[in-house]
Amino acid sequence: MTSAAVQSTLRVPHVIAYSEEAVPQHLAFRRSAVREPYLAYTDPRGTDWALGVLRARVRGNRRGQPQWKLLNTLRQWRCMIKDLCQVCGGRAADPETGRLWWIITETAYRQLGDGHHTSAPATCRARIPESLASCPRLRESGDVFTAASAEPSAVLADMFAPGPQGRAVHTGEHNVFVSLEWTDLLRSALATQLVVRLHDLRPA
Ligand SMILES: [Zn+2]
Repeated sequence: MTSAAVQSTLRVPHVIAYSEEAVPQHLAFRRSAVREPYLAYTDPRGTDWALGVLRARVRGNRRGQPQWKLLNTLRQWRCMIKDLCQVCGGRAADPETGRLWWIITETAYRQLGDGHHTSAPATCRARIPESLASCPRLRESGDVFTAASAEPSAVLADMFAPGPQGRAVHTGEHNVFVSLEWTDLLRSALATQLVVRLHDLRPA
């Protein structure tokens, strides 16, 4: 079977982006009397900002083709904030223990001095076997853990620099890890994924 044929038989995970969910990103650096120049949409809305971070705009209509290597920013973010499963979108907490099941992969994981950080949302216990079976990447490097809780700690972001007339010029950097405490860097960041810190992480 071709990989396209294999993919058409798989459930599309809740967090995967679709081709018609992408929207044009018109960005500029704004100035104000009290702040250093900061990245914003040229027609800013209050909902552009979350946790003090400029978040990439996307639609949530699931139209078009699944983009298997891309996550929908809003669905990924909501999973992280509300402890939802990245596969089915339901509650990820184990009904018996209340703990969160997590498949930890090398690419989505980062260990820092203050603990374990990941950009991949939780996976509910019921979907763990199917996730491991259907994704070769998870089978190779995915380990199953549980965590007591998760809290937002950082974002993965596209980075921009101010150009002439306040234009926002993409620096070419994608998926840059920016802590929610690094306010200077956040002014130049367009967040595409939320990162959480996992508390009391234990092998399952
Ligand atoms: Zn699930």
